[in-house]
Amino acid sequence: MSEDKKTIDEISDGSKEQSTAAGDERKESHEDEYQKVCFMCRRPESKAGKMITLPGGISICTECMQKSFDTMNQNNGNMSDMLSGMPNFGMIDLSNLSNQVPKKQRVKKKEKKAAREFSIKDIPPPHRIKAMLDEYVIGQEHAKKVMSVAVYNHYKRVFAPAASDVEIEKSNMLMIGPTGSGKTYMVQTLARLLDVPLAITDATSLTEAGYIGDDIESVVSKLLAAADNDVERAEHGIIFIDEIDKIAKKKNTNQRDVSGEAVQQGMLKLLEGSNIEVPVGANSKNAMVPLETVNTKNILFICGGAFPDLSDIIRERLTKTSSIGFQAELKDKYDQDKNILSKVTLDDLRTFGMLPEFLGRLPIVFSLESLTEDMLVEILKEPKNAILKQYKRLLELDEVKLEFEEEALRAIARKALEKDTGARALRAIIEDFMLDIMYEIPKDSSIGEVIITREYIENTGGPRILLRGQEVPFLEQK
Ligand code: ADP
Repeated sequence: MSEDKKTIDEISDGSKEQSTAAGDERKESHEDEYQKVCFMCRRPESKAGKMITLPGGISICTECMQKSFDTMNQNNGNMSDMLSGMPNFGMIDLSNLSNQVPKKQRVKKKEKKAAREFSIKDIPPPHRIKAMLDEYVIGQEHAKKVMSVAVYNHYKRVFAPAASDVEIEKSNMLMIGPTGSGKTYMVQTLARLLDVPLAITDATSLTEAGYIGDDIESVVSKLLAAADNDVERAEHGIIFIDEIDKIAKKKNTNQRDVSGEAVQQGMLKLLEGSNIEVPVGANSKNAMVPLETVNTKNILFICGGAFPDLSDIIRERLTKTSSIGFQAELKDKYDQDKNILSKVTLDDLRTFGMLPEFLGRLPIVFSLESLTEDMLVEILKEPKNAILKQYKRLLELDEVKLEFEEEALRAIARKALEKDTGARALRAIIEDFMLDIMYEIPKDSSIGEVIITREYIENTGGPRILLRGQEVPFLEQK
């Protein structure tokens, strides 16, 4: 009997061993996807050449290994004797260090894919890019058109075989538009539709290297992270820098301008295209982080900003250039013009405080319209992922129909306009009104339909609640 048992144990032990071995194999094959990174100089295998693996899984490149030997030889091999006499010093135990490079900071090997050549035919033409944007972004027809053409040209430039005599200029863009008019949203939608990595950053958080804040190159590090540390993918990605108007040159200051002009200067190289050494998986360069070189030549930079006083600059220019006598009349006309930003010129932007060299690297300048009541109503209900559609779907799962009266939508849009934060206010307003509904409805399974009325939005009444077959006022339900 005991013999039998032993055999069973042995068998089960054996199978455990087998399964662990299989697990190890899986792990190893997964490990194969990563390059080794030199523990000392932080360069990956693709840069530093063959690595020597030490106990504990630490890799050191031959160059650093040689340097270490040289240093030891210079000290006549007495280093460890010397250190053993000192109470607080010791030789580094490499096995303690093996776990110090976090996984996400490792550099992925460039995959040896069966090279699928990306051809120009794979880039959707401008009208298709715009049609895709149309499904999500309401209005902004001009902006969508300009962007579609610019993006198409950009990727054509990236993937076209290099012609010897004509060099196509980069299509970096500058978007000017009021807060909440869809600048970030358009870029996000575009990147998702084209399936390219996107990094979004705020110009106000950027400072020149050496000052407190993120240094300018950190945006490239963000993009690398968005591309899963795949350098090649990152090099075809998009970087969106928001609030670019906040780094305008300050007027009449004698102090050193840390966050404005200097940041614009610092960004020039990046916008044009240069090799940037970025830390992998962290946003600062330190001893433990491997570095990768990313070339920004083919990265599409899109800068966006609200440029609040720019409309005054444009108005002033337009009225000045008109002949005397008509000025008052014209001033009136321009004061009324809600989309005065569409008349912007490079000179206006220069007067605003953007450096000519900086503007020179953003050849495509366009503006977005301020959203009107009609557009806000459409934003509520039309896009593929419209807020109303989302709420309707949520209640549908409780088998309750949700309807909004057209007048209720207009009332929501008017409330949003008052806040002056564009479409951004819509969600907050709707969430506020829908809270009670989402709380009360699941209580009562006899409710079949909810109609949001203008009175409910204007706080003069409640929504209409229809029981399955019969109608009662909402407040009586509570
Ligand atoms: P900003 O112009 O300040 O970058 P955002 O793009 O962040 O504004 O807009 C805020 C939100 O408003 C977006 O997430 C999106 O849901 C909505 N939105 C803004 N403009 C539009 C638009 N034209 N069409 C559809 N939704 C929009």
